[in-house]
Amino acid sequence: MSEDRKKDTPEQAEFRAYCKDWLASHVQEAPPVRLPQSAIEIMHTPQMDYLRKWQGEAYAAGLIGCDYPVAEGGGGRTGCQLIANQEMQAANKPFLPNILGLGMAAPTIHIHGKQGIREKLLPRLFSCEDVWCQGFSEPGAGSDLANVQTFAEKKGDKWVINGHKVWTSLAHFADWMILLLRTDKTDKYDGLSYFVVPIKSELGKSVEVRPLIKITGETGFNEVFFDNLEVSEDYLLEDLGKGWQVAQTTLLHERGAGPFVTPSSGGATSGGSGAKEGLHVGGAHSLINLAKSSARNGRTAADDPVIRDKIMEMIIRQEGSKQGARRGRVEGLCDHPMRIPLQSKLVMSEIRQDAGALAMEIEGAASSLYINDDNAPAGGEWPLAYMNSYGVTIAAGTSEIQRNILGERVLGMAKSK
Ligand SMILES: Cc1cc2nc3c(=O)[nH]c(=O)nc-3n(C[C@H](O)[C@H](O)[C@H](O)COP(=O)(O)OP(=O)(O)OC[C@H]3O[C@@H](n4cnc5c(N)ncnc54)[C@H](O)[C@@H]3O)c2cc1C
Repeated sequence: MSEDRKKDTPEQAEFRAYCKDWLASHVQEAPPVRLPQSAIEIMHTPQMDYLRKWQGEAYAAGLIGCDYPVAEGGGGRTGCQLIANQEMQAANKPFLPNILGLGMAAPTIHIHGKQGIREKLLPRLFSCEDVWCQGFSEPGAGSDLANVQTFAEKKGDKWVINGHKVWTSLAHFADWMILLLRTDKTDKYDGLSYFVVPIKSELGKSVEVRPLIKITGETGFNEVFFDNLEVSEDYLLEDLGKGWQVAQTTLLHERGAGPFVTPSSGGATSGGSGAKEGLHVGGAHSLINLAKSSARNGRTAADDPVIRDKIMEMIIRQEGSKQGARRGRVEGLCDHPMRIPLQSKLVMSEIRQDAGALAMEIEGAASSLYINDDNAPAGGEWPLAYMNSYGVTIAAGTSEIQRNILGERVLGMAKSK
């Protein structure tokens, strides 16, 4: 019996058994097209349709939104989302596409949204009838997020939004956006406000979404331009000028440190359940298979003692990090709630990069063969994973910023200039 199962309360044990049964009997159709490696690389409508259907089915079965109130479309349970996540992963189910909605928008709306708004928005988010994206970053506001310049001005009973967001993952499918805006130009932090904004209905009118093409050839993220987008005051979360505080809830969940365990826990873009196990989460076991099937000096790469040593080192690092992350669930063990999630995001994203680099070494010259090339080892997935792994040390706060936060806020060291 796993450590997690041993800790289940009777209610949780019953829920786990239910999840297992449902997942075992659920018929998962084969995808009609190749799926990307994670939700933030969904490019094509058939990919999204397939994954949306899966999320809808999982929600209808009670495996999503488990710990949210029933009135908001949740399951009204306690500590059950983690169980559903573990069982979905064990059953080797596809990732959930509405990762930014589940990972960041849902907890933020639940904690800060007005009554009526929560009940209206959350059920459709859980079922993936509405896809969500996160409009935080701008050309001049990434690490320095409080420098956001996209502006909302009050005109009559509406807020009118103008400006430009960038790196907005999934905006090309999104119905709604969580949006950090400036409502006062005189105060950096207290001049920020937080809105939830319907964007799909305004596409081609006051909202323009321009996909950005990555080095991989994929278009997972976008630029989003607002030209006099009108939004109702109902969609303001908390009071005017409280945007920075609301954004902290979103960022805590994005970094896997919030009170709500969501299917993207571990950081929506940090290789949590939004990614294919094996390739993204360090991929140690896949590396073994790759080494066994890669030719080297008349034998296989797995016969090379240097490669064997490097793979073992990768497995030890990955396992060490996994076990380290478990400490976060032991009450009272960690003095700071951010310590383990930030450490995990930092370490796991760097392991992913190193695992990708090792895969390139194992493949040798064949690493230049890519997706859609019949001769590519492992279907060409490793070169793609390697290139995408660089985004993971940037998204949800760069490794440098994670180190700054760990140093300053967790360890209490002097602030960087
Ligand atoms: C795959 C991917 C998906 C993303 N999805 C989204 C999304 O959906 N929505 C969204 O809003 N944003 C998204 N982002 C944007 C992401 O949050 C930003 O890229 C990130 O916060 C860094 O900001 P920046 O790109 O402006 O870099 P900058 O902030 O300009 O940083 C440039 C470099 O300077 C370093 N640096 C900056 N300040 C410091 C400091 N104080 N100390 C030390 N080093 C520093 C950084 O570490 C980095 O190496 C995504 C990014 C990626 C890669």
